[in-house]
Amino acid sequence: MAAAAERSFTVRRTDMSPRRRPSHSLALRISKALEREYETADLGNRTDPIEELVYIALTRQTHQKNALRSWQAITDAGGLAAILDMSERQLQHLLGPAGLSKQKARWIKGSLTAVAHRFGELSLSATRDWADEALEAFLRSLPGISIKSAKCIMMYSMGRRVLPVDVHVRRVATRLGLVEKGLSEKAIHSALERQIAPEDRHAFHVNSVWHGRKVCVARNPKCHQCVIQQLCAFRCSRGDERA
Ligand code: SF4
Repeated sequence: MAAAAERSFTVRRTDMSPRRRPSHSLALRISKALEREYETADLGNRTDPIEELVYIALTRQTHQKNALRSWQAITDAGGLAAILDMSERQLQHLLGPAGLSKQKARWIKGSLTAVAHRFGELSLSATRDWADEALEAFLRSLPGISIKSAKCIMMYSMGRRVLPVDVHVRRVATRLGLVEKGLSEKAIHSALERQIAPEDRHAFHVNSVWHGRKVCVARNPKCHQCVIQQLCAFRCSRGDERA
């Protein structure tokens, strides 16, 4: 495709009348097709909830390699427990490579301090038997923890069957027509969790992130390479609309 045409290559929404709203079976077919393509490959998330909390904060609005440099700096400075004895300014210095270091230092220091005060240790093991709603509410009470971040911690490191919706999942799900465009963070999480069965949510999240990174990218999605193009409620066309 010529460069000029490639630049204007985009997606256009098709009919989304109530009769055409996505069904659970469509969501399942999409989920299984993405799973076959990407095999739920590891995205680098952590199995310890406290580590995942810090990892998510570090990866916000930056490339993974920058976040990992900051992670290494924290490790070299004594690990997560050492953060409790640091000032925010000291932590900010370690977080330089991850960007937004002032905000991230405030979020991480505040969250770890709140967990240590609440449970007497830097651990969420006391929440093992909590209901999902209570656990999510607690995590969201911590500084810098959005709905998506709370659900990532719950899904990746606590075995909870929730579905985090990041920027990639939102873009892919919207283009596919699984959700309406412009939903609030709360509404899009609810809408997708209604359609994706609990046992499929982890795979759907991970594989949608891969799909959004590799094929259904923000600009010029590679629809001609897409394994779910036949299931997509949008059609590729010339124009300037983006999901
Ligand atoms: S890349 Fe696939 S999912 Fe994304 S808009 Fe194109 S056909 Fe739809």
